[in-house]
Amino acid sequence: MQTGKLIVFAGPSGVGKGTLLRSLLDKHPDLYLSISATTRPPRPGEINGHHYYFVSRDRFETMVAEGQLLEWAEFAGNYYGTPRQPVERAIAEGKFVVLEIELEGARQVRKTFPEGMQIFILPPSEEELERRIRARGQDSEAAIARRLQRAKAEIAAADEFDLKIINDDFDRAIAALEAALFAVVPAGRVQ
Ligand code: 5GP
Repeated sequence: MQTGKLIVFAGPSGVGKGTLLRSLLDKHPDLYLSISATTRPPRPGEINGHHYYFVSRDRFETMVAEGQLLEWAEFAGNYYGTPRQPVERAIAEGKFVVLEIELEGARQVRKTFPEGMQIFILPPSEEELERRIRARGQDSEAAIARRLQRAKAEIAAADEFDLKIINDDFDRAIAALEAALFAVVPAGRVQ
């Protein structure tokens, strides 16, 4: 049976990772997106078990203590983590499993899954990133400031990743991601 693959998708908050991912998932049903647990409260429209598993801090700490998380990190005052079991099962079933996580989590996964592919999505510029975070209009001023500060630290670590993709032109970014994920062979070349 074909073995699965682990793909880490990182990049600063507001860079548009989610939109790129949704488009990839629509086009490629063979991709499996891991659903994280978080202590962050749901934003309007977010559904428990679909966007995240929204849990209390106590529950999250139990998950950590019991080794239920593949990786976890604190981000802008909340915990986020990847439930281990569904990811391991999907990989065993030969699926391409995508984790959309922040930098610290990506670093942990690099140690436990060194064969995984790590992709970093960059904004066209820091000014554009700030504009996108503000345009979302979902976070308080303090949360925006924390996210921007963290974004700068994350961008500084982009070189740690296997592949960097600038999200300036949506179609071009998608094409670059597909080429990396599915190792597109140029027409006429025999492998
Ligand atoms: P947001 O609150 O905007 O949904 O997510 C904040 C940050 O947490 C994003 O950079 C997102 O990629 C990251 N994140 C989401 N789920 C996880 C997770 O399971 N583990 C880690 N380490 N980061 C996560």
